[in-house]
Amino acid sequence: MKKIIKNKRIQIIFIICLSLIALLIMIFLVNKIFKLKDRLDNSKIDKIKSVEKYDKELNIDKAVKIPIITFHRVVDHETKIKYFSDNEWINDLDITKNELEWLYNNEWKTIDLDEFYCWYMNECEFDKKTFVITIDDGDAEAYYNVLPLLDKYDFKATLFVIGNTIPDVTPELNEPNYSRVGKDVIEKLRKENSRLHFESHSYAQHDFAQNGQPIASTFSIEELNKDFDNNSEYNFKYYAYPYGYYNNDLLSVISNRKDIKMAFTFGNFNYATRLNNRYEIDRIKISGNTSFEEFKDWFE
Ligand SMILES: [Zn+2]
Repeated sequence: MKKIIKNKRIQIIFIICLSLIALLIMIFLVNKIFKLKDRLDNSKIDKIKSVEKYDKELNIDKAVKIPIITFHRVVDHETKIKYFSDNEWINDLDITKNELEWLYNNEWKTIDLDEFYCWYMNECEFDKKTFVITIDDGDAEAYYNVLPLLDKYDFKATLFVIGNTIPDVTPELNEPNYSRVGKDVIEKLRKENSRLHFESHSYAQHDFAQNGQPIASTFSIEELNKDFDNNSEYNFKYYAYPYGYYNNDLLSVISNRKDIKMAFTFGNFNYATRLNNRYEIDRIKISGNTSFEEFKDWFE
């Protein structure tokens, strides 16, 4: 009888011990589950943090590609309709106004070529809605017709002028006749810190050789260097290839010159990126044939 009672006591102690062990195991497991949950939460936070860091490093909210739009001559609506309706190199001022107004209303902002260079060299950042305006050939309409729009919408633009076509004095506008911006206006606007800047479209390369090729293709290295030297009075820092044409000689001349910091193409119409060669920066053609839809597509 005594033995049975003793066995029973051992049994109870055994059950209590077993329950305690089970309880400890349960506490251990619950603890482990909570810790795991914490770890999952933390890893989620880490993940979010790393994505934010990644965004910051990539500057997702900053411009990684910049549209550099290129106009040529921009005449008033009546002149366009009457004389140049089929000429894609001559834009209608009313349409240009609509395009710039749309950009202004959609909070796009311009940078000039110095700012663009700073961005390209990775020394400046600009917001996503940043673009550049360039105008080729130095026609006087840039001064008479486009500059008032730049002032209206607080946009900056660069006019690429051709050295050997620049008169001393800018003629009065007399459309449909051609006239070029003169030295007087270049000096005046530079002094006034105007929104219209002036850079190089060569001195005498805006022409064709007898074989129908751009004249630059017939120039020796010396002649090419001389062409840049002939523009030295204007202190140009940026260059737009006439007709978008360049060969290895021109690339080597331009990349060895201390005065020219960057050169712009015309032909591979695309956004400019930091991956472009410094002397082959892409631009976008906005011609008299560009529809408003096509124009807006570049600014998605
Ligand atoms: Zn040109």
